[in-house]
Amino acid sequence: MSNVRHDAGEPAAPTIPVTAEIVTIGDELVLGESLDTNGRDLARALRTIGVAVTRQTTVGDAVEGVAAVIREAAARARIVVTTGGLGPTFDDPTREAAALAAGVPTVFQPDLWASITTMFERFGRVPTDNNRAQAFVPFGAHVIPNPVGTAPAFALDVRGACVICLPGVPREMRYLTEHAVLALLVARFGLTERLWLRTLHCAGIGESALDAAIHDVVTAVPQDGTLAVGLAAHLGVVDVRLTARAANAAEADGRIAPVEAAIRERLGDAVFGADDDTLPGVVAAALAARGWRIAGVEAGVGGALAAALAGAGDVCAGVEVVTDTLSAAALEAAVAAARRSRAVEVVVGVSLRRAGDPAHPSPEAGRIDVCLATPHGTTTTTLAHAGHPDSGPSRAVAAAVDGVRRAIG
Ligand code: ATP
Ligand code: MG
Repeated sequence: MSNVRHDAGEPAAPTIPVTAEIVTIGDELVLGESLDTNGRDLARALRTIGVAVTRQTTVGDAVEGVAAVIREAAARARIVVTTGGLGPTFDDPTREAAALAAGVPTVFQPDLWASITTMFERFGRVPTDNNRAQAFVPFGAHVIPNPVGTAPAFALDVRGACVICLPGVPREMRYLTEHAVLALLVARFGLTERLWLRTLHCAGIGESALDAAIHDVVTAVPQDGTLAVGLAAHLGVVDVRLTARAANAAEADGRIAPVEAAIRERLGDAVFGADDDTLPGVVAAALAARGWRIAGVEAGVGGALAAALAGAGDVCAGVEVVTDTLSAAALEAAVAAARRSRAVEVVVGVSLRRAGDPAHPSPEAGRIDVCLATPHGTTTTTLAHAGHPDSGPSRAVAAAVDGVRRAIG
């Protein structure tokens, strides 16, 4: 079997794990004006060459502050990748900060200046004096040409770590990572392994119950860096992530498969799928396999059930949307009526009663009623929603769709 995920490339023999830290630089990030997407994209890219990111730091545009963060990161990890702050203006700190961290001056690079002016000419513009700043790099740095922007990137040794400084513009950052940085790191560190990911999706079980159920399996996993198990809770769905370090798919499978089997055994039918599977997608496929169709009745969830079943295509005969909440009895009546009028095998009804309103969440729990009618009969279950009122609709719909999965399973 070979069902674990990987990214393209030729695998070879194993090596010692190499860790990296990411430093995202910019006042706009620390002030909350824009969202750091570079950190996520870089971590995913590094994973494809088997480099695990152990820490991400976001720091504002002050030279001393950035230099301190680079120095600290370089003392912990063998690779440090920074993004942002390479622009031409006085508030772009990264060139100076990297030089300060390495204890070297910045130096003017005539070749770099020539390529910057050529780039400007191509765009029909004239570089300003400010742009000259971009032709300075820390002494001893290796310049990484940037054909998709004006801010050049560079690599520099700081305290024995390889520090790579990339522009902040996400498109430029991604381009340089893909076309230069990954190859540079593979060559420099002799990387031959990559990280392989398998995600198990679970529903109908809370994060702490799930954690308790698989605790002994997780603690028995060798702590040698070859396999890591993590949990990620979403609304109504909890993911178990298995990440293996391996040179090829067969080796990754060898690490993941026994642990995956033990986890599946503990969690039983709480596991509804893996990797790209979604709860509505799995349910739609199960209905289609039986030649059954489904209809829905939702109350107080703002269209969330209709949205979840929208991807089910012909399998779904429609969802009746009631704005207000319904009592359990009224929900049952609406489900029975839908079953008759739509001539379907399965009807799922869900009603959410919020506790308080979004602006004034109440400490009391909300109430979720799920009514399921199948050829096997009709059942109604009630659960409490103790989270924030805004997460009620997603929770309620996940419970309803998971109810269908279990009822027809
Ligand atoms: P350039 O000279 O091309 O502007 P730069 O290195 O100076 O590159 P910044 O000026 O810091 O980059 O940022 C450029 C743009 O990229 C801004 O719009 C900024 O909000 C965005 N950006 C910077 N860092 C990130 C990040 N970590 N995630 C997402 N966007 C970012
Ligand atoms: Mg910036």
